Amino acid sequence: MGNDLCPNCNFNLDGGDVFDKLSCLAQYKNKTEEEITGIAELYGWSKGKPIRFSKKLVQYDLFDPGNLFFQCPRCGCYID
Ligand SMILES: [Zn+2]
Repeated sequence: MGNDLCPNCNFNLDGGDVFDKLSCLAQYKNKTEEEITGIAELYGWSKGKPIRFSKKLVQYDLFDPGNLFFQCPRCGCYID
């Protein structure tokens, strides 16, 4: 990824690698790599299958819980 741009306004929707982002947080400064890995895994991240945060807004469908809508936080357009 890293190429996750809004098709309407070109806003960068990529929020960065989950582990990298957590490692940069001040409140995790004194945590070990193993501890941060454990927290990252709560988001579904793993060393073999790293995932990234997204800045997309998520809207749930009132009538269909399996149906999600994604929106750009800058221009509000719907994505996909
Ligand atoms: Zn946009």
